[in-house]
Amino acid sequence: MIPFLDLKAINQHFETDFQNSFRQFLDSGYYILGSQVKSFEANFARFCGAKHCIGVGNGLDALRLILEGYKILGKLKENDEVLVASNTYIATILAIKQAGLNPVLVEADLDTYNFDLESLQKSISEKTKAVMPVHLYGQLSPMDEILKISKAHNLLVIEDAAQAHGAKNEEGKRAGNIGDAAGFSFYPTKNLGALGDAGAVTTNDDALAEVIKKLRNYGASTKYVNELLGFNSRLDELQAAFLNCKLPTLDSDNERRRSIAKKYISEIENDKISLPKYDGSENHIFHLFVVRVKNRYSFIDYLDRNGIGHLIHYPLPPHKQQALLEFSHLSFPITEQIHNEIISLPISPVLSNEEVETVISVLNKY
Ligand SMILES: *Cc1c(COP(=O)(O)O)cnc(C)c1O
Repeated sequence: MIPFLDLKAINQHFETDFQNSFRQFLDSGYYILGSQVKSFEANFARFCGAKHCIGVGNGLDALRLILEGYKILGKLKENDEVLVASNTYIATILAIKQAGLNPVLVEADLDTYNFDLESLQKSISEKTKAVMPVHLYGQLSPMDEILKISKAHNLLVIEDAAQAHGAKNEEGKRAGNIGDAAGFSFYPTKNLGALGDAGAVTTNDDALAEVIKKLRNYGASTKYVNELLGFNSRLDELQAAFLNCKLPTLDSDNERRRSIAKKYISEIENDKISLPKYDGSENHIFHLFVVRVKNRYSFIDYLDRNGIGHLIHYPLPPHKQQALLEFSHLSFPITEQIHNEIISLPISPVLSNEEVETVISVLNKY
């Protein structure tokens, strides 16, 4: 049996470091916003090439706090429209709604699974004030085009980089340093994953960073002096310590994922299976390796019989979710096709060459 993702094996590589960090943490007697959070923020900002990193509780809060921050700075106001991919995890849309803004869903492109640029253009109205590209499955959205469109219409660009830690564009700029601000998640399954919930905002905007630092901690920069109606969404000290152990190998872990993806793409030959369109560059960190198959449930049955792990990211698009009935009258044929046909195959830094060969040979015999 080849598991879809062996998180335990991934984290076992760091066991000694984790234990040393825990010991230091325990000895310090300091549990909230301490030296580990501070050093992780400095390390992750440097990694992304961004001026600021603010550690927060999770990825959803990272996105929400960016929007709340812009409201406080007067760059967004209640009911402004934010363009967002119809083909995303629900968190991106929830962040917009929780901040009192209006999500406007934009159709996807079948080759990249990210924004369809023509639909993006067409969705812009007088009320549009921001755009939230999602680097889905680890592949950068078409940021050059998105930045151009945003500049022409004076829109803020907020990256949902929750699946794209380390992805680089042609100029070597990383996710988190391409738009005006970015939200990251360190949920355990992400390419940089904590051992619990964790998230961060990156930005080059000094004023935004200042406001988010307050917002995550009850609106205060000095204890018990509350300047803003804040939240409690701090990056946990112990999770920051674990993330500090894992960040140094993120690039090589992503490289291993890319090399597996390249092997899958060159050696899986089966007309029934549509492979990801990938240019071989560092703009993809293969958080997920997603293929499309017409009769998904018979394919899944076949994978089960052959012991190949799989998951679907995601089985139901946001506009078809019961929680978002307000969008249920909308139709996004490409997004719906994607959700009906996709299936994610095993990919991770701990997948062995032998396991990769097995996946390829099983798929070629389908
Ligand atoms: C994981 C994820 C989030 C949310 O992250 P949490 O840490 O679970 O809140 C947001 N957007 C995308 C695209 C994600 O994959």
